[in-house]
Amino acid sequence: MANKPEDVIRDEIRALQPYHVPDSSGMVKLDAMENPYLLPKEVRERIGALVAGAEINRYPDAAATRLKQRLAEMLGLPQGMELVLGNGSDEIIQMLMLAVARPGATVVGVEPAFVMFRLIAAFCGLRFVGVPLRADFSLDPERLVAAIREHQPALVFIAYPNNPTGNLFDDEAIGRVIDAAPGIVVIDEAYHAFAGRTYVQKLGQHPNLLVMRTLSKSGLAGLRLGLIAGPGEWLQHVEKVRLPYNVGVLTQLVAEEALQHGELLDAQAAAIRSERSRLYAELEREPRTTPYPSDANFILFRTGEAQRTFEGLKARGVLIKNLHGSHPALAGCLRVTLGTREENDRFLGALKESLA
Ligand code: PMP
Repeated sequence: MANKPEDVIRDEIRALQPYHVPDSSGMVKLDAMENPYLLPKEVRERIGALVAGAEINRYPDAAATRLKQRLAEMLGLPQGMELVLGNGSDEIIQMLMLAVARPGATVVGVEPAFVMFRLIAAFCGLRFVGVPLRADFSLDPERLVAAIREHQPALVFIAYPNNPTGNLFDDEAIGRVIDAAPGIVVIDEAYHAFAGRTYVQKLGQHPNLLVMRTLSKSGLAGLRLGLIAGPGEWLQHVEKVRLPYNVGVLTQLVAEEALQHGELLDAQAAAIRSERSRLYAELEREPRTTPYPSDANFILFRTGEAQRTFEGLKARGVLIKNLHGSHPALAGCLRVTLGTREENDRFLGALKESLA
């Protein structure tokens, strides 16, 4: 019998579960690390006018020259370093993996970490080796370096801060990883706005270091814009894998305008960091929850009955992320993204009722 998916679709793709995005309509949405604030009305009106005048009958600027210039300024990109842009950093991860996907090539990451590293490796036919973090979610450099020596990965991914644990890893430990890696090391700074620490200034000092960023957590998740920065020696090849018009006219236009208002985005990030301190203290005070310290815009916490608590919150109109069952180290863990003060209060109220 011909035309059967099992004869045509790759085994590793058929074995995958699709990335599930739950329906959040009408809910307090604290599950996806979005920034809860819109830009001020004047800025949105300015964006509206720009969109009205946009030439959407034309393909976008394939090189995104103006936008790249703005992004380089925002990053403080060292002289001589280059950028490649993606439809979110998810697409950057995919481009990097496609570019290294020789038969038998390996990607190394830590676990628990952002699940797309493992998923996209499967899409690209790469082997993924996840090295466990220590019980306190810190990086275990001996273990990671040993895995790198054994598997000789083409790519190593380290999120800084890490998702879903929220912590920054020790820089000395990361340095050892960069020195041991025979291929590329990507420092994924998706949560940079809430951590304030970066490897951008180290670009070029280590020839195999690349830094990835996204605008998604800084109030522009709907645009889908990510970037990778580093030496042209690597990025010229990643650029060949990029589809020519992957960043649309509207994304380029709106991102350029939004980046003119860096001070507004910074103020929003500062408000989120201040809510993080407040919520962390509340979760610490609550005897039935144990939060983990966070340098990101979310807090991971452990509780006795995670599934029941998650369902209780959902029934009360608050959507967070249930990580219980996703990895043994995350047993009993839930992750809440920081919202506005009001949203966080709704969460806290619903949490106390759900725990009762
Ligand atoms: N890296 C990390 C560590 C993330 O947590 C996420 C989003 N959850 C991404 C990358 C992808 O973000 P985006 O595709 O929206 O840029």
